[in-house]
Amino acid sequence: MARGILVVVSGFSGAGKGTLMKRLLEKYDDYALSISVTTRPPREGEQDGREYFFRTHEEFERLIREDALIEYAQYVGNYYGTPQAYVEEQLGSGRDVILEIEIQGALKVKEKLADTLLLFVTPPSAQELKKRLEIRGTETPESVRSRLARANEEAQGILSYDYLLVNDDLETCVDVMHHVIQSEHHRMQRNHGSVQKIVQELKAL
Ligand code: 5GP
Repeated sequence: MARGILVVVSGFSGAGKGTLMKRLLEKYDDYALSISVTTRPPREGEQDGREYFFRTHEEFERLIREDALIEYAQYVGNYYGTPQAYVEEQLGSGRDVILEIEIQGALKVKEKLADTLLLFVTPPSAQELKKRLEIRGTETPESVRSRLARANEEAQGILSYDYLLVNDDLETCVDVMHHVIQSEHHRMQRNHGSVQKIVQELKAL
C-alpha cells in the first residue's frame, strides 16, 4: 500500500486554521490530524489529548531528550512539538497526516522529510487577522500584540510553502485544501512504482 502524504498546514495565528482543520476532518474521511504537545496552558474549553497534550517544561524537555518529537519550536514563550510515533504509524498505514504547526517547525519537517506538502493559510487581509484575534476573546491585548508581531516575522517565510490557501469562505477553503492534497497523490514523483509496473507490463505484451 502507498504511504500516506505528510501535510503541513501553517498560517498566522487567527487565520482560522483550527476551524478549517475541524471542518476538513468532519467533511472528509481521508485524514489523520496529529495532536501536538505544548507547554502553553489550555484555553477555555480545550481538553488534554484533544486539542493538545498539555505538558510541563520538564516533561517537554524529556520528550526532546528521548527523541520522541519529529520537530519542536518555541512560539510566544512556549514549546510546541509533534510526536513522532503517531505520525509514522498513520503514514505507514496509508493515511495522509496533517500537522498544524508554525513555520520554523514546518521548515524542519521539510528538511527531514523532503516529500512533505506545505500549505499556508492566510485570512483575506491583515485587518481581518487583527479582528479575528480580538474577537476570539481568548487572547490578552499583550498576546494579540505578540501574535501580530510573530505574523510579521512569519510572513517572510510564506514563499517556502507549496500552496497558498486564502481563508475567506470556510467551505470553499476546506474544499480547496482537500483537492490540493488529493491532487498531490497524482504527482508523477510519488508514482514511480505504478509507472514502473505499467512499463514492465507493456514490455511483456
Ligand atoms: P496556539 O497557541 O494558537 O494553539 O498555537 C500557536 C502556534 O503554534 C500555531 O501557529 C500552531 O500552528 C503552532 N503549533 C501547534 N502545534 C505545533 C507543533 O507541534 N510544532 C510547531 N512547530 N508548532 C506548533
